[in-house]
Amino acid sequence: MEGIKGRIPILDLTPEVEELWDHLMAAITRVLRSGQFILGPEVEAFEREVAEYLGVRHAIGVNSGTDALVIGLRALGIGPGDEVITTPFTFFATAEAISLVGATPVFVDIDPKTFNINPELIPAAITPRTKAILPVHLYGCPADMDPILALAEEHGLKVLEDSAQAFGATYRGRKVGTLGHAGAFSFFPSKNLGAYGDGGLLVTNDDGVAEVARMLRAHGSRRKYHNEMVGYNSRLDALQAAILRVKLPHVDRWNAQRREVASRYNQLLAGIPGVVVPEISEGHVFHQYTVRILGGRRDEVQKALAEAGIGTMVYYPVPLHLLPVYGYPEGILPMAEGAAKEALSMPMFPNLSPGLLAKVVQHIKELLLE
Ligand SMILES: *Cc1c(COP(=O)(O)O)cnc(C)c1O
Repeated sequence: MEGIKGRIPILDLTPEVEELWDHLMAAITRVLRSGQFILGPEVEAFEREVAEYLGVRHAIGVNSGTDALVIGLRALGIGPGDEVITTPFTFFATAEAISLVGATPVFVDIDPKTFNINPELIPAAITPRTKAILPVHLYGCPADMDPILALAEEHGLKVLEDSAQAFGATYRGRKVGTLGHAGAFSFFPSKNLGAYGDGGLLVTNDDGVAEVARMLRAHGSRRKYHNEMVGYNSRLDALQAAILRVKLPHVDRWNAQRREVASRYNQLLAGIPGVVVPEISEGHVFHQYTVRILGGRRDEVQKALAEAGIGTMVYYPVPLHLLPVYGYPEGILPMAEGAAKEALSMPMFPNLSPGLLAKVVQHIKELLLE
């Protein structure tokens, strides 16, 4: 973990590979010997297992989390002329998917405590064109779903959960991604359940949505060469499915370890002026451990930590409404804009040792208490 010259990376995927090596090799060998590389029995088995884990009727393996969002939106009937309410403080793919289906993202500001969309601000953004709400469970922290679902019910809107960063997270005891009409997951390698390449998943309890999504991932066809709609080539690989089947039984333990790492950080960082630590809320799976550095010192702290060999990241330096592709003026979503200036994500992975974690905190203390 502490690699070249005592560096502490923000993320280290190698311990998990070592831990599972024999099982991974067996799974990969099984796929190579099967001669079936796209969809097929391995993907079907993963879809069954992951649906059972999440407690949802349908799980549809696709190429990426981005495709899961695009296919999810289309399967929910979202298209040109529609507006979709979402958060500006997320990875670009959230809004990109809305734009890709021809709809317009309508950005609503965040709750500064959780970094997630603030449900209280959603009603003012609803227009006759609004068709859906797309909350994001950012950093693994469940968005406040009850008021979002109530608003959706009241206004006849669909809810698609961007759960890319929150595999295994729960909201009032239920897995996120299964609370709305559909949920999108990413298996990008760094995610809490990561493949060793690209992969994604759409989940839903709605049989009709599942049927359309299955068609869309395979060129809009139920039956080969009998295409019924214009879809995508967006299927999950058998190799990635086999790898995910090895990793799925471990994800709860890894998520629990992430929560332990977060609470250790919180204890050690408590009381340092100018640092705001995240709440260890129920069901949070800490895809990222993200603090706020106040007083305009975030970039300085990041630079100093980098010089000490400690990897951190700013997720995200530009809220989506300010990106040139959307081009809204600065000042309209102050909470997201503030978060973009103050958020700093620390090294976070399941087996980050207490010793290395203490080193990270020590460096921050030296900087801010000097
Ligand atoms: C990773 C991520 C995505 C996209 O997933 P890919 O598999 O990389 O396409 C979408 N939304 C959020 C919030 C993400 O973190």
